[in-house]
Amino acid sequence: MRVLIFSDVHANLTALDAVLKDAGVVDKIWCLGDMVGYGPDPNECIQRVQSLPNFLCLLGNHDVAALGQIDTATFNTEARQAIHWTQDALSPENLDYLAKLPTTLEFDDQITLIHGSPRNPIWEYLINERIATQNFAYFETDYCFVGHSHLPAIYHLRDGHAYAHLIAPIFDQPITLTPRAIINPGSVGQPRDRNPDACYLILDYESAIIEYRRAAYDIAAVQQRMAAVGLPERHIARLKIGR
Ligand code: ZN
Repeated sequence: MRVLIFSDVHANLTALDAVLKDAGVVDKIWCLGDMVGYGPDPNECIQRVQSLPNFLCLLGNHDVAALGQIDTATFNTEARQAIHWTQDALSPENLDYLAKLPTTLEFDDQITLIHGSPRNPIWEYLINERIATQNFAYFETDYCFVGHSHLPAIYHLRDGHAYAHLIAPIFDQPITLTPRAIINPGSVGQPRDRNPDACYLILDYESAIIEYRRAAYDIAAVQQRMAAVGLPERHIARLKIGR
């Protein structure tokens, strides 16, 4: 079974479509949350994924913010601006779609899917070996896929000991996972690893082999749509530099 795994689409339909096309034929599609926030196409992205067969999506922190379930005073001015724009733009049906998303999914004792971290599914950034090490105690499956940081990364338990070791992903090359590991597929709609191309991975479910891939897309077109609706300048600029 071939599974397309991605995260953090952030209302960027052009990047999402580039990934769906680049990935080719897959049996399942799993999205690790943050379908909306930052980008200009929140309704269009939700409609697109709803049209996909075998699609599953998790709830992310920006989805929670769009639902108005948190106090946006904790966000910086630009982030708050983007959240308020997204809240106004989303149709009642699409808000309802976000409201029903799960925070965790588990398959066959083998795989856990989460947006942030196993310890704190919505909010924690799993961004270094120390945090990864602690988080292995909070899930039981062989593998856990997380998003949220927008940084492609694999943390695996070194020599079976409870110490996470970071492996920088190599692209376009099969990587065989060994239990146990935490894997981040990077971000579709707002990459932050200094590569602006949309980032995703393909999982061969039975053999636990993953392959990281990048899909180039028309960034200028997305930037124009963001400017047209008055989204923050800094969020527009960062798409092109990928950070
Ligand atoms: Zn995000």
